[in-house]
Amino acid sequence: MEETFKALWITEQSDQSFARQIARRNIDSLPPGEVLIRVHYSSLNYKDALSASGNRGVTRNYPHTPGIDAAGVVAESQSPAFKAGDPVLVTGYDLGMNTSGGFAEYIRVPVGWVVPLPNGLSLRESMIYGTAGFTAALSVHQLQKHDIKPESGKIVVTGATGGVGSVAVGILAKAGYEVAAVTGKPEAGDFLRGLGAGEVIGREEVDDQSGKPFLKARFAGAVDTVGGNILATLLKSLHYGGIATCCGLVQSPQLNTTVFPFILRSVSLIGIDSVQCSQEVRRLVWNKLAADWKLEQLDGLSRECTLDELPERIDLILNGKLKGRTVVRLAS
Ligand code: NDP
Repeated sequence: MEETFKALWITEQSDQSFARQIARRNIDSLPPGEVLIRVHYSSLNYKDALSASGNRGVTRNYPHTPGIDAAGVVAESQSPAFKAGDPVLVTGYDLGMNTSGGFAEYIRVPVGWVVPLPNGLSLRESMIYGTAGFTAALSVHQLQKHDIKPESGKIVVTGATGGVGSVAVGILAKAGYEVAAVTGKPEAGDFLRGLGAGEVIGREEVDDQSGKPFLKARFAGAVDTVGGNILATLLKSLHYGGIATCCGLVQSPQLNTTVFPFILRSVSLIGIDSVQCSQEVRRLVWNKLAADWKLEQLDGLSRECTLDELPERIDLILNGKLKGRTVVRLAS
C-alpha cells in the first residue's frame, strides 16, 4: 500500500480566501478510525462545494479535504465486521465535513459509518445515487412506512430535476406510483417523463398565494425537497391522511402554515435526515436501491470527472450550472 495519496486540499489564504489544489497527503495524516478505505468513486453534492469554499457552517477547520460520499474497497480493518478487499460505501455522518472526506484516494472512518456495498450495485452506481439518491430513497421509504400505496393516489415530487427529486421520481415510478413532477424548468418535461413522471407541473402552480387554509385535495403524498411556500401549498393539497416528507430548503427554510391540514385532513409531515440515519435503515434502503428500486436510467443521470477536473465542477455547482449527478473517479 502507498504511504501517500492524492486528495483535493482546501487551504485558507492570508487574505481569508480559500484555495483548491490537488495535493499528495500522507496516510498517517488521516483521522483515527477502524476502517481504512481505498476510495474508487465519490460524488459531488452542494454541501461539498460549500466545504470547498470555506463555509464554516459545514467545515470548521482548514486545511481540509471535502467529500461527503465515498465508495471503495477496504484496505485495512481493525474491526471483525470488515476485511481487506470488502467493497463498501460511506455517506453522511461527519465524512467530508470535519472528517477528511471522499475527494481523496483514501479515507479512514469509524466502523459504525461503513455500509457493505449491496449486491446488485457497482461502486460507481452507488455514487451516482450518493447522498442525494439515498435521501430520495429514504423519503419513499417513509411514505411506504406510513402506508401510502400506489392505489392511495398521486405522489408529487418538488425540485424534480435536482439530485434528490430526479431519483425520487424514478423510484416512485418504478415502485408503481403515479408521479407528478414539479419543476421550474419548462424544457425538462421529456427528461422527467423519461424517468417515469405521468404529469409535469410548473413550479408556480404549487406556490399558492391565496392565503386559503385548504386547496383541492390532489395528492396522496409529497416528496418535498424545496421547503418554503411550496411545501406549505402541498400540505394544503394533500388528501385526507396524506403524508409529506421534507428534506430540503432550496426555496426557503421557512414554513408558514396553519394547523388546519393536520387537524382537519389528518395530514402528516415527516422529516428526512440522511446524515445521522441509523445503520439498520441505511442498509435496508441501500439494499432497495440495489434491487427493486434500481433505476434503469441511472447512467444517464450522471456525468463523471476526475479529481483533477473537480475544482472547476465545484465552481459550476456553486453557480447553479451543474445538471444531474456528478461522479468523481478516483481509481479505475
Ligand atoms: P439540487 O441543487 O440538485 O436540486 C434542487 C432543485 O430544486 C433544482 O434542480 C430545481 O429543480 C429546484 N429549485 C431550484 N431553485 C428553486 C427555488 N427557488 N424554488 C423551488 N425550487 C427550486 O439539490 P438536491 O436535489 O441535491 O438537494 C435538494 C435539497 O435537499 C437541498 O436543500 C439539500 O440541501 C437537501 N438535502 C437534504 C438532505 C437531508 O439529509 N435532509 C440530504 C441531501 C440533500 P426544478 O427546476 O426541477 O424545480
